[in-house]
Amino acid sequence: MIYCVEDERNIRELLVYTLETTGFQAKGLADGCELMEALKNEKPELILLDVMLPGEDGYAILTKIRNMEEVKEVPVIMVTAKDAEFDKVRGLESGADDYITKPFGMMEFVARVKAVLRRCGQNKKNEDKMLSYGELCMLVGRHEVRCRGCKVELTRKEFELLKYLLENKGIVLTRNQILCKIWGYDFDGETRTVDVHVRTLRQKLGEEGNLIETIRGVGYRIGG
Ligand code: CA
Repeated sequence: MIYCVEDERNIRELLVYTLETTGFQAKGLADGCELMEALKNEKPELILLDVMLPGEDGYAILTKIRNMEEVKEVPVIMVTAKDAEFDKVRGLESGADDYITKPFGMMEFVARVKAVLRRCGQNKKNEDKMLSYGELCMLVGRHEVRCRGCKVELTRKEFELLKYLLENKGIVLTRNQILCKIWGYDFDGETRTVDVHVRTLRQKLGEEGNLIETIRGVGYRIGG
């Protein structure tokens, strides 16, 4: 089930129709209130979320979703008429998995949806995997990180970032590589998002945060 939150009826119906003809189950919702009601009934595989909505806007709704225990893992694609760099960064920083700008073609739209679902499906395959370095330990399937045995709460993107670094111990990952891997694609070489997430990740890891090395002018690495 894919939820399409969009206040413009024509667009909403077109999104639902396109998804249904592609073989997905989809449901159109006009605003954040309808989404919250729907989330109580069924956890979707994906949420398409318009930014400009009556009442709460897409950013506020996304923050809510990420704080709801049962649905915080559901991937979200933000849909908006704006295409300013600022908005892309803001959307991705608030935990969106992808970003699509109106107007867009239906082929592109379906490709984006499939790409996000594929990425999230791959994450599910890692259920029992454990990654560690020094006093840092990650239980991938349980979405749990521990420093010296103490649990650390990370956002999903911080978690994925740390996982990517741990999977590539000793290898320098460039900001662009990280963007492509964690956010799915590179938008105009925008890498500030990566730096922001590394900063908050380090803070949350405390002393173990020092394990993430900055390689000046290149990117980041765990384990030399
Ligand atoms: Ca709208």
